[in-house]
Amino acid sequence: MGTFNIVVLPGDGIGPEVAAAGVSALKVIGEVYGHTFNFDEKRIGGIAIDTDNNPYPEDTDKACRAADAVILGAVGGPKWDLGKQRPEQGLLAVRKAMGLFANLRPMDVKASQVHRSPLKREVVEGADMLIVRELTGGLYFGKQTRTETTATDECVYTVAEVERVARVAFEAARKRRNKVTSVDKANVIETSRLWRETVIRLHKEEYSDVELEHALVDSMAMHLVTRPTSFDVVVTENMFGDILSDLASVLPGSIGLLGSASLGATGQGLYEPIHGSAPDIAGKDLANPIGTLKSVAMLLRFSLNLLTEADALDAAIDAVVEKGVLTRDLGGTASGSQVSAAINAQIRESA
Ligand code: ATP
Ligand code: MG
Repeated sequence: MGTFNIVVLPGDGIGPEVAAAGVSALKVIGEVYGHTFNFDEKRIGGIAIDTDNNPYPEDTDKACRAADAVILGAVGGPKWDLGKQRPEQGLLAVRKAMGLFANLRPMDVKASQVHRSPLKREVVEGADMLIVRELTGGLYFGKQTRTETTATDECVYTVAEVERVARVAFEAARKRRNKVTSVDKANVIETSRLWRETVIRLHKEEYSDVELEHALVDSMAMHLVTRPTSFDVVVTENMFGDILSDLASVLPGSIGLLGSASLGATGQGLYEPIHGSAPDIAGKDLANPIGTLKSVAMLLRFSLNLLTEADALDAAIDAVVEKGVLTRDLGGTASGSQVSAAINAQIRESA
C-alpha cells in the first residue's frame, strides 16, 4: 500500500487525451490494489510557450525533480513550428533535469495484429525486442561549429556513459531472454570502438551469463527488417538508437501501440508514448491510448516497483486488443476513450 507522487505533463495535440487515459488507469489500479497516487499536472511544450513564454517553466521543473515518476503526453504542433521557442526544447530540458540517460522502447508484434505489420507474417511473427538508446551523449550533445562552407558536429562518449547504459541493457536482458545485441560502427568511428571495448569488458567482468553479440549499425538496419525475431535487447548510442527505434516502431503496424521509459540513476523516470502530438487527429478522441498505457505499465515496474500491478495493466491491454476493441489506426471503430474504459474495466475484472 504505497503513496506515490506522479507529475503529469499532458503537452500538446493528442498529448492531453492519451495522458488522461494513463491517469485513469493508475486511478483504477490505485483503487483495486490499495495505492494512493497523487497527480500533479504541469505544463510543457507548446502550451507552456503560450502561457509562460517558456517550453519548460520553473514550476514544472521543480515538480518533475521531486516526483516519483513523470507521465508525458506529447509536445509540438504546427502552431509553434516557426516560433523562436520550440516545444521540443521542453522535452530535452526535462530529460536533462531528471538526469535520464537510458531510453527504453519495447516493441512486440501482437499475434492478432500481425496482419497490420508492413512485413510478411512469417518474418515478423513473434518479434519481441527492447531497444535501449543512450540519451545524453554522442552527436546530439557535442560541440557544433559552422562557417559558410563548413560544419562540424563533435561526437563524444566516455567509458562511464557507455558503461551505465550497457548495464541497463544487461540487467534488462536477464529479466527477458538473456541476449544483448550491441550496435555500433566500430569499423569506422572512434567513439564506437570505445563503445564496443567497454561493452566487452563489462560483459566479461559482470554479465558473462548473458549472451552478447555485436552488430554494425548499417547491417543492423537490414536485420531489423529481414529477421526481427532474432533480437532480444538491443543497446546503442544516441543517434543510432534514434534511427533504429523509429525503424523498429513501424513493425507492429501502428505507432500508437508503443511506449517508452527514460531512466536515470535514481529510479525516477519519465514515461511517454513514442508517437508525437499527431495534430491531424487531435481533439477528435481518435488517438490510441495504448502507447501511453504501455508506458504507465513500465512506470509501475521501473519507478514504483509494483510488478503485479504492471503485469495486470499489460495483461489488460493485451486482452482488450485480443477482444478487438480497437481504435482506427488498428482498423477498429472504437474511440480512444472507449479503449481506455475497456482496459480499465478489464483491470477490475481480472483483479
Ligand atoms: P512529431 O514531430 O511530434 O513526432 P509526427 O507528425 O512526426 O509528429 P506523430 O505525431 O507520431 O508524428 O504522427 C504520425 C502519424 O501517426 C499521424 O498520422 C498520426 O495521426 C498517427 N498517430 C500518432 N499517434 C497516434 C495514436 N496514438 N493513435 C492513432 N494514430 C496516431
Ligand atoms: Mg515524428
